[in-house]
Amino acid sequence: MCATSASNLPLLIDTHCHPAGDGTDEAMLAEAEALGVRVLLVGGNAAMNRAAAASGRCFAQGIDWSAEEPWDGTFEPDSGICAVGELGFDFHYASGPETETLQRTRFAVQTAVARARGLPIIVHTREADDVTLDALRGADLPATGVIHSFTGDISFARKLLDLGYWISLSGIVTFRNADRLREVAKFLPDDRILVETDTPYLAPVPMRGRPNRPAYVRHTAEAIAKLRGVPLEAFAALTTANATRCFRRPDGFKSGMEVRL
Ligand SMILES: [Zn+2]
Repeated sequence: MCATSASNLPLLIDTHCHPAGDGTDEAMLAEAEALGVRVLLVGGNAAMNRAAAASGRCFAQGIDWSAEEPWDGTFEPDSGICAVGELGFDFHYASGPETETLQRTRFAVQTAVARARGLPIIVHTREADDVTLDALRGADLPATGVIHSFTGDISFARKLLDLGYWISLSGIVTFRNADRLREVAKFLPDDRILVETDTPYLAPVPMRGRPNRPAYVRHTAEAIAKLRGVPLEAFAALTTANATRCFRRPDGFKSGMEVRL
């Protein structure tokens, strides 16, 4: 009989978790921390930004980059902020010149904040490889950041790595039809790979279909470690070191509220 506890689990950083903002976040984060998973909370609209900032943990603040409503200019990151985002390009549901112009405008606004504050960015990209590369090349940022929940191919990954970005893999890598992404998971260099959940979306196998939780990042990390032929402990150590570097958190994402590990 041996209860699972953080003391025998390698530390993992879930680099992309959206807060629910409905009073359930603290229990979810405490559960993760008790299992050796620390979290970067990611906003993107007003409600999520508020919930992320209120958690007292490292968080990213962004504006809704794909919404059609005008943006009122409010962007007031507080001292806990460690990134801007998520931001980016997605032409899955809509595409064409108008969509591209809207998303490029939002991208410019958010990257201006990142530039002014010297913060890394969290980038979403889906069916938008060329526009994303073009925008990142033109952004002239003092820090890079991460391409989150990457779903592209090795050729796209290579170009992003050349620009200095880290690449984060979500539970999608465990899905049955994700062979191309598993090739990417094997290809990524040791010093440029991160893991995430994208909670509440994309729960990994064997939790697929449930609402995702940061504690489930361990399933994704285990799957990738296996693909790369390394022990989970070694893979956890390198992704944690990468997250610390990407988001410049030498404290290893500790928060004042965190349980003792
Ligand atoms: Zn997200």
